[in-house]
Amino acid sequence: MSKITLTSYGATQEVTGSCHLLNVDGFRLLIDCGLYQGDLNNYFKNWEEFGFSAKNINAVILTHAHLDHCGRLPKLIKEGFQGKIYTTPPTAKLVEIVLADNLKIMSEKIAHSKYQPLYSAADLSNTNKKFLPVEYGQNFKINDNISFTLHQAGHILGAAIVKLKIFGKTIIFTGDIGSENMPLVKDIEYFDQADYVIMESTYGDRLHAQVKNRDAVLIQAIQRVTAQNSTLVMSEFAIERAQDILKVLNDYYEKHLDFRVPVYLDSPMADVVTKVYKKYTSYFNDAVQDSLKRDRDIFDFPHLKITSESRFSKNINTAQPPKIILAGSGMADGGRIIHHLAQYASDPKNYILFMGFQVPGTLGHRFTSGAFDFSYLGRKVPIHCAVDQIDGFSAHADQAGLMKWVGHFQNQPKIFLVHGNPEAMTVLAQKINNELKLKADILLRQTSVEL
Ligand SMILES: [Zn+2]
Repeated sequence: MSKITLTSYGATQEVTGSCHLLNVDGFRLLIDCGLYQGDLNNYFKNWEEFGFSAKNINAVILTHAHLDHCGRLPKLIKEGFQGKIYTTPPTAKLVEIVLADNLKIMSEKIAHSKYQPLYSAADLSNTNKKFLPVEYGQNFKINDNISFTLHQAGHILGAAIVKLKIFGKTIIFTGDIGSENMPLVKDIEYFDQADYVIMESTYGDRLHAQVKNRDAVLIQAIQRVTAQNSTLVMSEFAIERAQDILKVLNDYYEKHLDFRVPVYLDSPMADVVTKVYKKYTSYFNDAVQDSLKRDRDIFDFPHLKITSESRFSKNINTAQPPKIILAGSGMADGGRIIHHLAQYASDPKNYILFMGFQVPGTLGHRFTSGAFDFSYLGRKVPIHCAVDQIDGFSAHADQAGLMKWVGHFQNQPKIFLVHGNPEAMTVLAQKINNELKLKADILLRQTSVEL
């Protein structure tokens, strides 16, 4: 009798460390192998054992290039994984950048701890050799019993929902669920039938504000600092959101050729990622394909200055306002944005815009929750500038989006929730049970279920 078991080794009742194992009659297929992120306690879980032997894993399917889905792949390879990692072509390219950047960040993060980096540059290059790109929609047969197709997730470039066929059963892993009407990527795909759905639940208890007028909020912000002759600082998430925002600014600047306020992209990582986006334009949605007919470079526009080298970055401070600065990290828990916040936060005319959810404990959260000051290099910097947060560029579906996606099934799949905090999961599970009459359970760590 054929047997399929599902066991999760991460992102159970938490939002990081995605790692789900399917055992199909002894063939072990891993979906994602992500990093634990957040505070140091959580971060050091990455150094614990996987809970399975890396040598026994036969294949990996990777949903997308966010670190919480791919960040422990080099550890898997270091510990003896010999198989292939299946993913879309853009994801394979983005993961290289993300993992290399992570190695730098990790070394800084653990500098004063007893830990050594999880992996070396050599492990990284071995990881990059394991990728086997699979296009969206292509039916890929792993063996006689297991095949899969990758579908649009509406999340970030290359992100996929994985639909597996195993012994005639359909098993869907959502990865991260994005949404419709994203500025660049294609709309998320919906499904009619499945037997099992392993579903993320990050925003299971929350609705995003401002999705409809996100571009307008951004444009108002740049008009406001122009009128006040001041500085706008925007927090950048290097993958997808940075490119989404560059595209919105591109459209504005191309239309208003007399508008001359300089935009500084002060994020080396966002710059490198944007180059990947430029290479994979065929993966963008129809509206962007239309724009590309008129404008060959939708991420480059008059008055955009890319300051990847730090010597150019320093010139930003001396440039006369008005000016616009895009810098990472997205939650200001590191990166060049911190220096800009120190420089500009004390002037009430300046404006700081955080481009998405800010996790408690980050400097971004301190700003968006109304703090009066913050510490920078041993001194207190008062926060007198205007501060706002735009949620509309989030690459994650909110509760309504999750319900719409899961409500599309025409049969009665069994739902397992992963990748959410316990409160979000409980709210979403109840909503799915009550409103859609589907059975939704919360998957527990290292607790196997038979499919
Ligand atoms: Zn993601």
